Amino acid sequence: MSESLFSDLQPLCQSEAQPLVIAGPCSAESEDQVLATARELSAVGVTVFRAGLWKPRTSPGSFAGVGERGLSWLQRVKRETGMAIATEVATAQHVAAALDAGIDMLWLGARTTANPFATQEIADALASHHEVGVLVKNPVNPDVELWLGALQRLYNAGMRRLGAVHRGFDTYGMGRRLYRNEPHWHIALELMRRCPTLPLLHDPSHLGGKRTLVATLAQQAMDMGFDGLMIEAHCNPDCALSDAAQQITPSALRDLLQGLIIRRPGESTESLTALRELIDNCDRDLLEALAKRMQVSREIGQFKKSHKLQVVQTARFDAVLHDRLMQASELGLNPDFINKVMQAIHEESVRQQLDL
Ligand code: PEP
Ligand code: MN
Repeated sequence: MSESLFSDLQPLCQSEAQPLVIAGPCSAESEDQVLATARELSAVGVTVFRAGLWKPRTSPGSFAGVGERGLSWLQRVKRETGMAIATEVATAQHVAAALDAGIDMLWLGARTTANPFATQEIADALASHHEVGVLVKNPVNPDVELWLGALQRLYNAGMRRLGAVHRGFDTYGMGRRLYRNEPHWHIALELMRRCPTLPLLHDPSHLGGKRTLVATLAQQAMDMGFDGLMIEAHCNPDCALSDAAQQITPSALRDLLQGLIIRRPGESTESLTALRELIDNCDRDLLEALAKRMQVSREIGQFKKSHKLQVVQTARFDAVLHDRLMQASELGLNPDFINKVMQAIHEESVRQQLDL
């Protein structure tokens, strides 16, 4: 069980900051840019400095990072500011070079987490360096098992300073694209539910893809009980060589952190208990209604079978969906949500009818 699997984790790093804030540029570009950003971030109270050296870019020809050359810049950040240093690794060679440079924390990017061979290679390369912190970003595809699988590979290699980072999921070009990546918060919350001891950070920069969304997303993550944030910050964001639109200045980060409201974890008061009882009753009614609906659905299935009728009749489902969406709008329910609920109910109905 994953619960016992991660029961003996150690703190990700020395910093006991709550929430843990990891900040720094998307990419290390020059020694001056790295040092200037780091000094400002250290003054803002950031304790872990991030910078990408090997950048997994979608298209060849984009800035792919400065590579090993940037490691000495990060070492200087550590010497001069006392911040811990973190970078992304995607291969065993990256790991070896980062370890040689005394890196404190590594992270696996979203494209790497999606590849079990790459995550295993990294876990093997880390096997005798258990002191290093490792963060695993969610895979690009919305699959909690793949995310957990990467964490388990690292755990099995002996890593105990582990954490996860929610940065959103690929939209495959679909959807309304408010965000660069689809939040699917429920996937992160499922990881939190299954692994309560695992620190879970949120990366509003890659999720939102826009500077203006970073603070709101960061607050939402705090409201959901995330343990920390990884935020892209650059001394001159407009001139950044990668992810310029989503990077914020260190002073914007200071404002963001000052404005952040950290809520207390669950606490039961009398009025909350009463409201929770109402919710429990609503859920019971919902489940009873669903059970009844599935029973009717099975009877319809039986009828279709004996009359040699097709199980799926798209015109009928179209009409049902249309009607329920109208009703949802009258009731003030979010149509996207009801659409998803009805699709799920229909899918299960079809499955029940095919199982007959
Ligand atoms: C990054 O953190 O710079 C990065 C490439 O992130 P992701 O893997 O989330 O795309
Ligand atoms: Mn980036």
